[in-house]
Amino acid sequence: MGENVKVIVRCRPMNLKEIGSKCNSIVEIGDYVVSVLNPSARSAPRKSFTFDSVYDGHSKTETIYNDMCYSLVESTLEGYNGTIFAYGQTGCGKTHTMQGDGYSGAVENNGIIQRCFDHIFETISMATSVRYLALVSYLEIYNESIRDLLSANNPTSIKNHPLKDVPGLGVMVPTLTTQAVMSATDCYNWLNIGNKNRVTAATLMNDKSSRSHTIFTISLEQIQETCSPGTNPIIGGIRRGKLNLVDLAGSERQCKTGAFGERLKEATKINLSLSALGNVISALVDGKSKHIPYRDSKLTRLLQDSLGGNTKTLMVSCVSPADNSYDETLSTLRYACRAK
Ligand code: ADP
Ligand code: MG
Repeated sequence: MGENVKVIVRCRPMNLKEIGSKCNSIVEIGDYVVSVLNPSARSAPRKSFTFDSVYDGHSKTETIYNDMCYSLVESTLEGYNGTIFAYGQTGCGKTHTMQGDGYSGAVENNGIIQRCFDHIFETISMATSVRYLALVSYLEIYNESIRDLLSANNPTSIKNHPLKDVPGLGVMVPTLTTQAVMSATDCYNWLNIGNKNRVTAATLMNDKSSRSHTIFTISLEQIQETCSPGTNPIIGGIRRGKLNLVDLAGSERQCKTGAFGERLKEATKINLSLSALGNVISALVDGKSKHIPYRDSKLTRLLQDSLGGNTKTLMVSCVSPADNSYDETLSTLRYACRAK
């Protein structure tokens, strides 16, 4: 079981603001180990945490992809479900890791999501005895309600899509838009459209994108063609795999920032779904729990068929190296460790 859930940590470089405020780096990256110095007790021993892999500020998304994502994506091409999460405090590199920086067109700036598109369509274009049908959807969970980011309608008018438990098919969002895609370029286009809808919805509704979770899903249906010379191809069984690419809401504890009213309600819900996710993953890793608490949040219900069983999960936990993020860094590492 543990084999199927991998947790890694990526520490980003110090940013200009941190350099400007003369922050010290307190995060040390070793082989599989992250150790953190307590800036207010410098003589205390460092706290160390072990993961499946750890990456420092010089690391490239390409390396992370090749090390940790490649085989997960291969297994979705073979008909298994998989999920890649980015977790961490706002500003620590979740979106940088998942989507890269902007759309400059420079390949080295690509995030995990674009690399998945390229990988999947390269495999599809080379497949000889298999035909693939690829579908994408893109949704946002904000305040425990679901927004469809690929809908052609005004994104504000289509919030709160219901989740349905369909016997035989599992938990789904029947009203969610799915788009057939024929190429990596098609996927890039839908990702961009979804990102624009997300910004529009957030602006109109006066919320911040750091407070929502997004899930970009690629579903792959494959049909085996057994073809003997001189006969028509015989269509064999259908296999289905699904890849979920998840950019989680910022993990910072918003209750501490003096939130009240709507903001407090919102913060409570973010914390609820992140802790529900942590509980599900640690129950899966533990392997002894009979009850996996999927039903506790929209996020875990939605991902139920892609977490556990013979699915593969990767959690990328993002941290800052700076001493003024000590509390949040420690809480991210503890969360990530529990998921291990
Ligand atoms: P988050 O999505 O977790 O809120 P972002 O991915 O938006 O954080 O990152 C915040 C800023 O830090 C962005 O300007 C991003 O380009 C930069 N950044 C994050 N991680 C890295 C990294 N590993 N290398 C270089 N810049 C990074
Ligand atoms: Mg982000």
